[in-house]
Amino acid sequence: MIFIGGISPKITVLDDKAVICPVCGLAQAYYKRVDHYLNIFFIPLFRVKKGEVFLMCERCERQVHEMGEEYQDFLEHQDAVCRHCGRFLHPDFQYCPFCGKKT
Ligand SMILES: [Zn+2]
Ligand SMILES: [Zn+2]
Repeated sequence: MIFIGGISPKITVLDDKAVICPVCGLAQAYYKRVDHYLNIFFIPLFRVKKGEVFLMCERCERQVHEMGEEYQDFLEHQDAVCRHCGRFLHPDFQYCPFCGKKT
């Protein structure tokens, strides 16, 4: 018997409800997380590593993913707030992901 196994990433969508994409302003972004699973014969058996949560837009996928990582860093500093709802924002965001208003 040949053992075929390994660790591979699996994207989990945390919330089915779309939120406003901070880059394009459309409600097409979802909170997702990349977890790493141990696979045997291509079947994910169990999670070996829990990933960071990030915001990924269906429309401009890559950009938001990168911004998502920056956003995590940024949350530790917190110096910009939305003037409409008072939540913390990334300084590059054109739209507030919480209330959807233009910043
Ligand atoms: Zn977008
Ligand atoms: Zn807001």
